[in-house]
Amino acid sequence: HDKIARIKEQLKSYPDYPKKGILFWDIFPILQQPEYFRMLKDALVVEAKKISPPVECVAGLEARGFLFGPLISLELNVPFVPIRKKGKLPGNLLSVCYSKEYGQDVLEVQENAIKPGKRVLLVDDLLATGGSLLASYHLVKKAGAQVAASLVIIELEPLKGRDTLPTDVISLIKL
Ligand code: IMP
Repeated sequence: HDKIARIKEQLKSYPDYPKKGILFWDIFPILQQPEYFRMLKDALVVEAKKISPPVECVAGLEARGFLFGPLISLELNVPFVPIRKKGKLPGNLLSVCYSKEYGQDVLEVQENAIKPGKRVLLVDDLLATGGSLLASYHLVKKAGAQVAASLVIIELEPLKGRDTLPTDVISLIKL
C-alpha cells in the first residue's frame, strides 16, 4: 500500500484539459520512471493473479489499456486482445455503440479474437463514468465470453462509474 501511495504521488493533474471544467489525470510521468513503471506493472499483475477462477484472456481498451494490458497478459501467459475505436481493426468485427458526453461512439473487436466461454479481464488506465468499460463488457458478451473483472489504475470515485458496471471493478488508486 505504501507502494501504491508512492505511485499515486507520480500522477500529474491538468485542470481544464481537454476542455474547461475537466481535471485530467496524466499517468505518463509513471512510465517515464522505470522504477515506478515496474512497481505499477507488478501491482496490476498481483491484482490480476488474485482473480478466481483465473483470467483466460486480457482485453485492453484503446489507447492506454494498450500500455498495460499486454504486460499483464504476458505475466498470466494468456492472449491479449485490443478493443479499438471504430475503423482501426481489419477483418470481420464485433461492434458496440455507446453514448459519450457528445453523441455516440463505437468500440470494436476482431471476431474470433475472444473465444466463447473464456474469462476475460478488461484493462484500462482510468474509470470515469464507466461508459467505455460498459461498452467493452457488451463486446465480450457478444463474443460469447464472460468478463472476469474490470481492472483500472485510477478510479474517479465521485463519478460512480463502478455502480454502472455489471462486472467486478478493481482499482489501484481512488481519486
Ligand atoms: P469513461 O468511459 O467515462 O469511464 O471514461 C474513461 C475513458 O476516458 C478511459 O479510456 C480513460 O482513458 C479516459 N479518461 C477519462 N478521464 C481521464 C483522465 O482524467 N485521464 C486520463 N484518461 C481519462
